[in-house]
Amino acid sequence: MPENPAADHRSALRADCANCFGLCCVALPFAASADFAADKPAGRPCANLRSDFGCGIHARLRDEGYPGCTVYDCFGAGQQVSRVTFRGTSWREAPETAGQMFEVFPVMRGLHELLWYVTEALSLPAARPVHDGLRRARSRIEGLTRADAATLTALDVPALREEVNALLLRAGDLVRAGVPGRKKNHRGADLVGARLRGADLRGASLRGALLVAADLTGADLRAADLIGADLRDAELAGADLTGSVFLTQAQLNAARGDAATGIPEGLSRPAHW
Ligand code: SF4
Repeated sequence: MPENPAADHRSALRADCANCFGLCCVALPFAASADFAADKPAGRPCANLRSDFGCGIHARLRDEGYPGCTVYDCFGAGQQVSRVTFRGTSWREAPETAGQMFEVFPVMRGLHELLWYVTEALSLPAARPVHDGLRRARSRIEGLTRADAATLTALDVPALREEVNALLLRAGDLVRAGVPGRKKNHRGADLVGARLRGADLRGASLRGALLVAADLTGADLRAADLIGADLRDAELAGADLTGSVFLTQAQLNAARGDAATGIPEGLSRPAHW
């Protein structure tokens, strides 16, 4: 039987900032740009991070010049590292663990992101032929997320990603095959600023496509594979993304849209649209 989007699997892959030691606000570097108002090296707490690990400007991030923070998603890696790998002892309480904790965080994020895609693929009835392989992959990755810090830092996440990606690619192709007729293949294409207003992209492959600032107003993206597509500042007003596969909340948050944009099940309309 195909699996439904299992609520418990999905909820573990959603950021729970109240149970995290502000890891994305400390471990990751950022450079002053349109996305961040200031520079910050990796390992140094952001000046806006409060002592309780909350963000001091959370409600005003976009107004204060930090839109980059509103599009970041750790897929629940933050709470996993804070509560499971480091058993609830923060880098402030035990500064000697800080270096390793910040090294583990991006590894865990890579694992949780993969789990998110695998869970997504398991919710697709058309992908049933690869569900057994996906279940095996999920169980293996879940095991790795419970490993100790030393095991995690030694992990080759890109190799694992490549392995799992073969299954995800097949899952996306099985969904796209359900759309009649010839489907467009824009895999990895440079479509920066492209004029795709009203385009018929049903069942298209847009895997890894660069769609930065593309005009997709009113485009039909149903059953399109959007894994890894860069949608920063893409215009999605009135576009139909229902039934598209592998679209993440972070991709949506980075794009522009409106009340008429059709959004896939499980994702929410960004507050700034
Ligand atoms: S501005 Fe807020 S959300 Fe962004 S890094 Fe700093 S503390 Fe974190």
